[in-house]
Amino acid sequence: MLNKKNAVTMEKIVSLCKRRGFIFPGSEIYGGLANAWDYGPYGAELKNNIKQRWWRKFVEEREDMVGLDAAIIMNPETWKASGHLDNFSDPLAECQKCKSRYRTDQLIDAKICPNCGGEMSAPRQFNLMFKTFIGPAEESANVAYLRPETAQGIFVNFKNVLDTMRPKLPFGIGQIGKAFRNEITPGNFVFRTREFEQMEIEYFIAMPKKDKDWQAVFESWRKEMLVWMKELGLDVKNNVHELNVPDGERAHYSKKTIDFEYDFPFGKKELYGLAYRTDYDLKQHAKLSGIDLTCADEAGNKFTPHVIEPSLGVERTVLAVLCAAYNEEKVKEETRTVMKFPHWLAPVKIAVFPLLKNKPELVKKAKAVFDALKKDYICEFDDNGNIGKRYRRQDEIGTPFCLTVDFDTLEKGDVTVRDRDTMKQERVKIEELGEYFEEKLK
Ligand code: ATP
Repeated sequence: MLNKKNAVTMEKIVSLCKRRGFIFPGSEIYGGLANAWDYGPYGAELKNNIKQRWWRKFVEEREDMVGLDAAIIMNPETWKASGHLDNFSDPLAECQKCKSRYRTDQLIDAKICPNCGGEMSAPRQFNLMFKTFIGPAEESANVAYLRPETAQGIFVNFKNVLDTMRPKLPFGIGQIGKAFRNEITPGNFVFRTREFEQMEIEYFIAMPKKDKDWQAVFESWRKEMLVWMKELGLDVKNNVHELNVPDGERAHYSKKTIDFEYDFPFGKKELYGLAYRTDYDLKQHAKLSGIDLTCADEAGNKFTPHVIEPSLGVERTVLAVLCAAYNEEKVKEETRTVMKFPHWLAPVKIAVFPLLKNKPELVKKAKAVFDALKKDYICEFDDNGNIGKRYRRQDEIGTPFCLTVDFDTLEKGDVTVRDRDTMKQERVKIEELGEYFEEKLK
């Protein structure tokens, strides 16, 4: 299946990411590690833009939100309380013939191996948490787990946040951080990996008296998530679909879940989740820790807050953004590949070129313009090859503006600014560049 808008394929995305320094195969010089990926200079920038904007929008700009940064390795009691030790598993079966392993809930026929047609074993539950040991002794008393979701770091700090910040309900705690899952079938580039990052919010509300009470908050977060996806440049109307996860298929803690699915080149798959986790987690932690995790209403009655959870994967965001931004356009006889990221997402905002590399007066002037602009924007200086080649390179990394210093610049004090999307060029006075980009980029 292809993305409806621009018919991008995974081969093209993976190849561009490698060629242009977005995403490399993990530990490549050792032959790589299956399904591990490293983010190159532009990938790291793109990822940071996503995380910074998310944090700004959902934590800093809202009065009902605070942030948190909890540890990855938590007291193992956490996972007993949360139910992950008992429930966080996928059904795993092995082909009797070729020994390939699959998640049977993802197979059309769980009895037949999709690889060789052999007979599959009966499925058994495989826990997805990564186990490790704290300290030098590999004994069961020292077992710990890498967190499979960032959410539990929020729940175990609920009381700390209440005591220190004194927030009034409803309020949320947001966190960005790594999560680890020993996935049975990782793949599709960075879509499903064993190590990934989540941007999660636990939004606490008073105990709902009627379903309508939590449904209204759920609905407001559903809308927020759609707005966010639009900001990312996704074609929400055509490429984002909402799946109301039916009973029996939701996570053990959830009373309602919507999966936001995106039309990736390999099919319609979950991008984000929005779940109503009820008071399940806080109650479980209160029970196991013996610590009171309730709030009191105005009459002094104690209750455990309920929670709505918008959960977003950073890498799936990166992949969706790459697919949405990818465009191929015919320009005369050539095909131009251009990443049409929204400006705020673009890893580089402005590229500065001297028309010719071997003319010191042009290089000097271009450097001066570059030095001034880089104080406010991520800029790149490029004097390699002809201008056409430099444009193509910047188009492939999605740089919204290219600026060329030529001989006229030296006489008239203006430069050529070329727009990534329209390819139109205009002359702008150097002293007006600040204002010009302020309007275009901020
Ligand atoms: P899936 O059904 O695809 O396994 P999930 O429903 O288990 O996903 P959640 O537990 O809801 O996922 O996790 C919240 C978000 O974290 C997902 O919507 C996704 O963006 C991200 N995510 C989950 N697992 C992975 C993974 N293995 N690799 C990358 N991102 C992931």
